[in-house]
Amino acid sequence: SKFKAFLRENSLTMLTVTGVFLGGLVGFIIKNSTGDWTKREIMYISFPGELFLRMLKCLIVPLLVSSITSAIGGLDLSMSGKIAIRANAYYFLTTISAVVLGICLVTTIRPGQGAKIVEVRTESVDKASKVLTPDTLMDLVRNMFTDNIIQSTMFQYRTEIFENTSISPPVPMEEWDFKSAQREGSNVLGLVMFSVILGTTIGRMREKGQLLQDFFTSLSEAMMTITSWVIWISPLGVGFLIAAKIIEMDSITATIQSLGWYFITVMLGLFLHGFGTIAVIFFLGTGTLPYRYIAKLSQVLATAFGTGSSSATMPLTIKCLDGIGIDPRVTRFVIPVGATINMDGTALYEAVAALFIAQYREMSYSFGNIVAVSITATAASIGAAGIPQAGLVTMVMVLDTVGLEPKDVSLIIAVDWLLDRFRTTINVMCDALGTILVNHLSRNDLQSVDRLNAEPHELL
Ligand code: ASP
Repeated sequence: SKFKAFLRENSLTMLTVTGVFLGGLVGFIIKNSTGDWTKREIMYISFPGELFLRMLKCLIVPLLVSSITSAIGGLDLSMSGKIAIRANAYYFLTTISAVVLGICLVTTIRPGQGAKIVEVRTESVDKASKVLTPDTLMDLVRNMFTDNIIQSTMFQYRTEIFENTSISPPVPMEEWDFKSAQREGSNVLGLVMFSVILGTTIGRMREKGQLLQDFFTSLSEAMMTITSWVIWISPLGVGFLIAAKIIEMDSITATIQSLGWYFITVMLGLFLHGFGTIAVIFFLGTGTLPYRYIAKLSQVLATAFGTGSSSATMPLTIKCLDGIGIDPRVTRFVIPVGATINMDGTALYEAVAALFIAQYREMSYSFGNIVAVSITATAASIGAAGIPQAGLVTMVMVLDTVGLEPKDVSLIIAVDWLLDRFRTTINVMCDALGTILVNHLSRNDLQSVDRLNAEPHELL
């Protein structure tokens, strides 16, 4: 009966993990036993996965705004300030250590030296214009100060520099593998900032803000209920997404061979960061190792791998942490912000990719360049939206710091869809573990806040 209870509790998780492997396996078999599939046929196969993705994405904006606003609005200013400081310290510390690890690996392994790469060049790639680092950095900050919250929820170019300056998009979107990033990116960063300010204001308004506080709390509850329904489709959705992607892509072994050492460097970095660095930081903060939690998160991680999107996985991450018993006031603030700005895997990959390309082009880089790479890779990971292959778009600013051109991303496009899945998994994992850590550090403060707010009879 113990076994039965275990099955009941973990069936969905096991089904989702099975979905990943089954989807991959079926994709491989179909790919290798039949000829090339047309775009239309692939579209049919990915359709169930597409529907799953649409359901998740539909939850993102209302969930993000209502969660952050109600979480901050429900705490007093000093308490939410404490949580914010802890969360941001964790984000900063982990992102920087990911970048440093990436730089150490890429400079010792030197994957770019003597690599033979088949470049994906098109006419428009050659015509790509230069995007300067300051433009992208300014654009990142510009996005934080949204000028229209309604518009921020809709499609816009990821980087608005293309509109606000004379610089044209490096390449027509249709020709790039990252068109999804360009087309689907809403200005999540702007929404996060606005929600933080709105929540803070509501908290300060006290009785007068109660109506809004109740509204956002209730909206966030409703979104979580919908999430708990959507979760049941995840094994199927994830499986179909992966199968279709594998059928769609060129032979994986061939692409990995040509970019082998680069691929290995990024993967090694992701692994060491996720299971080494983070484990140490987690241990220092909580006194326990995180592996038990990682196992509990496996359904979330499988979904991150299947969708390639931190934002789309966010509803599931919150739900799962609720199940582990993390304080909702921490989760609802730390996860949406983390899914948007804390991307350790992406930061590591940006640094490795830029220096890899520099090595391949035989450009020498100084220590100053390396420092610049670590700063811009951090910024690029903050600016990247939590959607598939967004990191490839923000890469241009990192490339610029070592004197490379935007078109140089064409060198790594071939394996990017696969690396994207892995880095997204690490991004999501680090957000979730960070939330558990912040919850641990804040537990006493939260308890004393609760004791203060409790009615006298509740204390008895
Ligand atoms: N796909 C990643 C994410 O959603 C972002 C990236 O690195 O492209 O977390």
